[in-house]
Amino acid sequence: MYSAATSKKLQEQTQSFLENTASITADNIQALRDVLRFHEYRYYVIDDPLVSDAEYDQLYKQLEKLETGNPLLITTDSPTQRVGSSLNQNFPTVQHLVPMLSLDNSYNAEDLFDFDRKAREATNLDVIEYCIEPKFDGASISLIYENDILVRGATRGNGVEGEDITTNIKQIKSIPLSAPFSKYGVQQVEIRGEIIMTKKAFAKYNEGLAEQGLPPLANPRNAASGSLRQKDPKAVAKRNLDAFLYHISYYTTIDGFTFSSDGEQNDELPRSKFLATHGGSLDMLWECGFRSPKKEKMVVKGIEEVIKHVQDFEAMRDTLPYEIDGMVIKVNDFGLQDIMGMTTHHPRWAIAFKFKARQATTKLRAVEFQVGRTGAVTPVAKLEPVFLGGVTVGSISIHNEDYIKEKDLKIGDTVLIERAGDVIPQIVKSMPDIRTGKEKEIVYPRQCPVCKSELYKEETEAVWRCINIECPAQAVERIIHFVSKDAMDIKSFGEANVRKFYDLGLLKDVPGIYKLDFNAIGQLEGFGKKSIDNLSSAIEASKQQPLYRLVYALGIRFVGETTAKTLANAVENLMDLAKMSEEELQQLEDIGVKVAQSVYNFFSNQQNLAMLEELQQLGLQLKNVKKEKTGTDTLHGQTFLFTGTLAKLKRNEAEALAEQHGGKIVSGVSSKLNYLVVGEDAGSKLEKAKKINTIKIITEDEFLDIVK
Ligand code: AMP
Ligand code: ZN
Repeated sequence: MYSAATSKKLQEQTQSFLENTASITADNIQALRDVLRFHEYRYYVIDDPLVSDAEYDQLYKQLEKLETGNPLLITTDSPTQRVGSSLNQNFPTVQHLVPMLSLDNSYNAEDLFDFDRKAREATNLDVIEYCIEPKFDGASISLIYENDILVRGATRGNGVEGEDITTNIKQIKSIPLSAPFSKYGVQQVEIRGEIIMTKKAFAKYNEGLAEQGLPPLANPRNAASGSLRQKDPKAVAKRNLDAFLYHISYYTTIDGFTFSSDGEQNDELPRSKFLATHGGSLDMLWECGFRSPKKEKMVVKGIEEVIKHVQDFEAMRDTLPYEIDGMVIKVNDFGLQDIMGMTTHHPRWAIAFKFKARQATTKLRAVEFQVGRTGAVTPVAKLEPVFLGGVTVGSISIHNEDYIKEKDLKIGDTVLIERAGDVIPQIVKSMPDIRTGKEKEIVYPRQCPVCKSELYKEETEAVWRCINIECPAQAVERIIHFVSKDAMDIKSFGEANVRKFYDLGLLKDVPGIYKLDFNAIGQLEGFGKKSIDNLSSAIEASKQQPLYRLVYALGIRFVGETTAKTLANAVENLMDLAKMSEEELQQLEDIGVKVAQSVYNFFSNQQNLAMLEELQQLGLQLKNVKKEKTGTDTLHGQTFLFTGTLAKLKRNEAEALAEQHGGKIVSGVSSKLNYLVVGEDAGSKLEKAKKINTIKIITEDEFLDIVK
């Protein structure tokens, strides 16, 4: 899309705008837009940003300001025009220019041989060239651009008609609001693709749901498809969706020709190299600024190569940053596609190769109720064990009463379960159609299954809770959470040991972890000197864990890892949180009323404060080491990397110094790096950094000057 020379020019323009914002006037509004579009592309399409978020925001605000002052200068494809205003959109039905069909499916080599044989028969060729690309697991969309401007985005609907979701589509930043199709002689074009959520965005989204006490979504596909029809475009923007565009279904040329992937092709249709083959069209979409599978695709001759490639790809499926459920194999040449044509259901020139399912059906045998560390009573479905995506699944959390109702679950049901990537398995749905009549309702207990005290439920919540502070189940769960990997990460402690020590009376609460009687433990079977040494040094080491881990480990309701980091970063000492009011807490990034209230309640509780006091006396680090007085925040947002041998500082001292001033250490040279500090005998990192002109290459002395 952008040549090296253009990129350089745009980057220089960026720097000059940033250095002198006064130079930005209505006269160069177009240059400013070009700059912003360029950085959107770097960030969202090719994932290789050249400016920090703050710098982007600064320029974006300038554009907003200019446009507010000069409304006549606003263009429909201005970066500011993504933001939707209507809060309650409706989605009118629209007709696709070419129906969106399904794909035929294949599951093994034999199916693919069969597909190839038919293709060769239909085209009278000995060998066919195929284009192979991932089958993205999301929600399909179709986009129309006219005279280079995005004019419509629609859902697939029934294939013939979909819903107009243009405003929501505009929230997806990897979809350009304008694209230079006219450069290729194209006037109107309909393209198709898939809206997806990356695994990372999905994990973050589910984490957010968990912090609100809501059950997670089962897979990124549901998260993506559920977003498209959101009434509030801002809610769509929040989900950080992505889009792959992989098909040109229709276009008209400026010269008056029409191409339709389901119609009789005109022999006179001028076909540039981009518009002669499917692979070429992916290159063209890429050149127009879309995230097409240009790099993921592979063009090969003959079906044997196809089979090898799809098998290789399946083996590395889990290493991709997004979910795919197979590969799509397409006859590469558009002329041959035309000869092969389509059925009413699918094109004959394409086939999906489905990967091994991550879904399975099984029986829901029973439901057990477990008490968590916050007293929440969670139903857990006990399943007939099934093997799924490499693990045996025997039980799955079914969250709460509302969830059970929504999924319509009964004991004895056949259920569809799914394990998407590394996500915890979830129940997708039950199958009421095949019930025998012997299924039983799931009955929620009204008493704690462990301590038998009565359960309570707040009106606004879906969860029943045991509110007995002495409830042993909660105590055990709190300790298990405290030592767990994402919390204090006390290796070799583990759930089983916590339960064992608790049952034997050797451990009764969190401070007890630091007062364990190792003599008594030594008497237990399976605890030799070595394992006791390991345990005791792991416990000792945990005292120095960074503050955010401790905040998370406390298990305050609604405080997940992200919130824990926000809280820890806001203070110099954990006890400072106890001094903050609900209002002050709400001022922190992404902390809402509910979280603020929960944190406030936690730190208003005398027992909790006494426990923290005790932890401090036992030697735990309650200070935010990074935030201590010695440091400043002068290097906030700046990234550093050290290479070669430093003369005055040890490598880790230098890194700590950068961090004390708010800098961040990164692991490799990329455009995200701000400073490379070079010592004696620097090697390949230096060479690489020299090629990226935004990286400042400095000596150790220059570094010391910066941090002084
Ligand atoms: P299916 O829903 O199993 O019939 O598969 C057809 C769907 O696969 C299409 O409607 C697209 O939404 C989706 N799909 C994902 N990736 C691709 C791709 N690379 N080419 C064509 N279709 C794709
Ligand atoms: Zn209880």
